[in-house]
Amino acid sequence: MMHLQMIFNHWDAIIEVCILWGVFYMVYLLLKGTVAEQVMNGLVIIIIVTMLTRELDLGIINWLLTRLLTISVLAFLVIFQPEIRRGLAKIGRLGFFLNEKETFDEIAKSANVLSKKKIGGLMAIERETGLRRYVESGVELDAIVTSEMINTIFNPKSPLHDGGIIISGQRIEAAACLFPLTQNPNIPKTLGTRHRAAIGLSEDTDAVVVVVSEETGTISIAVDGKITREIEAKDLVRFLTEVSKPKKNRNGVKEFVKNIIVPKEKIS
Ligand code: ATP
Ligand code: MG
Repeated sequence: MMHLQMIFNHWDAIIEVCILWGVFYMVYLLLKGTVAEQVMNGLVIIIIVTMLTRELDLGIINWLLTRLLTISVLAFLVIFQPEIRRGLAKIGRLGFFLNEKETFDEIAKSANVLSKKKIGGLMAIERETGLRRYVESGVELDAIVTSEMINTIFNPKSPLHDGGIIISGQRIEAAACLFPLTQNPNIPKTLGTRHRAAIGLSEDTDAVVVVVSEETGTISIAVDGKITREIEAKDLVRFLTEVSKPKKNRNGVKEFVKNIIVPKEKIS
């Protein structure tokens, strides 16, 4: 009864805490995976220290920190304006799951063409983990995903054909990005650097990475440090849809089990 009474008396504070928590979490999601995330952690520490100095009656330090905080917040907004803008656009795009199928259709169409022409391709599809730091290794694009656009990028005469593209929602964020190569010694020697880069990125992040081999035209997909090879174009959309689900809801696409290369020992 006491507790109920207490909750009743402080319900406004409780709502306030919930809203603040929600807002902080949204801002965190917005900036996740960017340099701004680390800087924001720094700001939070300054806020905490400022509050501490007030509690401890350290007047001058508190005065200084309060000024510093005001300037830092302004500086943060100015310096990270591009990240914030992109993050807000992402929130606006929350409905992008509705269009996921269209995006996968375009990716599959493109992989099919690349495979037939034996043109090498490497495409990372962003999921929960931000791929910002890999975007920064390449050339930013911000183009709508279409198979024509992807094929143009991977055309061997295109200046952007080397490296991988990064797809976030319905957008190709960047091309010519460098992904980390897997160090796993159990990957067959037949797989070169393009495939190793795909596996490496899937080890470090939850991205789904599609590779088209230049040598054989084979289409493969790397997820969670495993690579499934020789996926037929007609199965690609179904495969992408399945592996893009959260791990616990995944069925695996059973007929491909024989094609999965699961490196025995995972090096992290
Ligand atoms: P393929 O079957 O297409 O020949 P492969 O796995 O044998 O692929 P390589 O022949 O070594 O790989 O492919 C080299 C290409 O892979 C490079 O031209 C480059 O476009 C891409 N690549 C190599 N390393 C990376 C990397 N770290 N990140 C992104 N792309 C890379
Ligand atoms: Mg090769």
